[in-house]
Amino acid sequence: MSRTLAEARTVLVSACLVGQACRYDGASCESNAVGRALAGKEVVPICPEAGAGLGIPRPAVELEGGDGRAVLEGSARARVKGGGPDVTAQFLEGARLATEVARRFGATVAVLKERSPSCGARQLWVNGERVEGQGVAAAALRGAGVTVLSDEEL
Ligand code: SF4
Repeated sequence: MSRTLAEARTVLVSACLVGQACRYDGASCESNAVGRALAGKEVVPICPEAGAGLGIPRPAVELEGGDGRAVLEGSARARVKGGGPDVTAQFLEGARLATEVARRFGATVAVLKERSPSCGARQLWVNGERVEGQGVAAAALRGAGVTVLSDEEL
């Protein structure tokens, strides 16, 4: 476990990692490693996409034109896979919610689900390719000073 996580009292976590069935396909991806790492801490689950009203289940989304930071800067967008509707506004709202919740609860660290267009901490899918980068909520949290860790680096 990273020292930052070990020292954190309150941790924001992707809700799907702690058993909430909020993934786009209506499943969860509960992680025993995350559960162990968060034992004894105040845990604040958040699903940026469900929180922004995208629904459960919902169509799978991919970023186009860049990663989450580029979406925050307005040079990339979030779109339903296969040329579906633009959902950039909902992704920005989900990122705003995540940062607001982190602020309200005093969470200094977030453990987020890798490769999600919202939560990916180090990798995600952009224009159909797996790339190094971060999701929209992950980028917003980092911008707000929260230390973002991937569930795969615990
Ligand atoms: S948006 Fe984040 S919390 Fe919600 S299902 Fe996707 S990876 Fe999990």
